[in-house]
Amino acid sequence: MTSPEDREGAQGLLLIGSTGSIGESTIDVVRRHPERFRLVGLSAHTRWQRLVEQALEFRPAFVHVGEACLGECREALAGSGIEVLSGRQALVDLPLRDGVDTLVSAIVGTRGLEPMVRAIRAGRRIAFANKEPLVTAGGPIMEEVRRHGVSCLPIDSEHSAILQCLRGEKPEDLSRIFLTASGGPFRGWSRDRLQQVSREQALKHPTWSMGAKITTDSATLMNKALEVIEAYWLYDLGEEAIEVLVHPESIIHSMVEFRDRSVKAQLGLPDMRIPIQYALSYPDHLPLQMEPVDWLKLGSLHFEALDEDVFPAIRLARAALRQGGGAPCVLNAANEAAVESFLEGALPFHRISETVERALEAFAGHSGESLEELIALDREVRQRAGSGDWPAIRATRDAKPRQSGNL
Ligand code: NAD
Ligand code: MG
Repeated sequence: MTSPEDREGAQGLLLIGSTGSIGESTIDVVRRHPERFRLVGLSAHTRWQRLVEQALEFRPAFVHVGEACLGECREALAGSGIEVLSGRQALVDLPLRDGVDTLVSAIVGTRGLEPMVRAIRAGRRIAFANKEPLVTAGGPIMEEVRRHGVSCLPIDSEHSAILQCLRGEKPEDLSRIFLTASGGPFRGWSRDRLQQVSREQALKHPTWSMGAKITTDSATLMNKALEVIEAYWLYDLGEEAIEVLVHPESIIHSMVEFRDRSVKAQLGLPDMRIPIQYALSYPDHLPLQMEPVDWLKLGSLHFEALDEDVFPAIRLARAALRQGGGAPCVLNAANEAAVESFLEGALPFHRISETVERALEAFAGHSGESLEELIALDREVRQRAGSGDWPAIRATRDAKPRQSGNL
């Protein structure tokens, strides 16, 4: 074990969403490189027992937990010297705390937007898996990134792949990028068959193990749609230069094509520790003890076109980007609300994309340029979804009311 003095040069990380899928993989990466990374703060919502275990292992200066678990968490960490915080404003202000060099955003949904912006404004480095903020407010976020001169590094495997492929290349040489998609558990299904999908089926991803929201997004292909918007902002590309290619093995994480038709791809096993570690160590590649790809066992790689009739998400994302203004924000907020309803059993699977489409129609032409406008728009879309303002949601809500929700 390395002593704290040895770790003085280590990068101070604030990890929000520490108990989730990305959070736990980040913890694993930090555990392997104590000389490089030091956890200064951790945040989680309800899984307070796991948060306490993480805190006792890594001894951060502070933890942040959901209000319902504050008492238990304080009691469990009494006498440890670790400060226990709670509440929305405290979460947003965490990046300002001493010792935070980098915000690792592994929280889910647009609730990660304000902490991210606060971190950028405080000049902190950003390593983000949480893609919803960039979809909601890509324009203002990238503006803040430029203004404050901070590094904003993607953890999403596709965007990490593009980052790696673009190293040493000139922007003007780039012709297109190809985001690969596993196709999700319903690849090859018909529209009719999708009407029978259960929660359990949607939560069974063929290649990646992830949280419930992104797993549902992968099943509707909305995750790839959010990634098209994420790439649009991160790599400053036109929507027409971003292709989506179904690649069921999830070995090629994405590709870049140059104007001479030369193509570069980044490959590896579908294990999020690779892009997480790269975002933290960029531009270095640190050692990572894990199985290498067994090329002979793998044998071959496959590619297919996406069936946009069955999975309209990419079409909706492209329409939202062309529409501009608040449209990507509306797409994301309606999707978050619809996925939450689906996970609660209040909305059938095939109605998720339909809800997003209806929201885009309902809010067509709605402006939204500034961060404040987009935050307000995000709230308004969720309120309308929550009040059952769209037929797609109301139809099932009448039969089974939603129990709770943090929309
Ligand atoms: P997850 O559901 O496994 O974990 C979410 C984390 O956020 C948990 O620690 C939870 O405590 C915290 N959280 C949830 N609601 C909260 C709230 N109201 N307040 C404070 N904290 C809250 O999710 P995940 O799969 O790790 O995904 C996290 C983000 O990373 C998502 O935006 C997802 O799109 C993105 N992402 C995930 C993967 C993956 O492999 N899991 C890959 C690429 C991108
Ligand atoms: Mg991805």
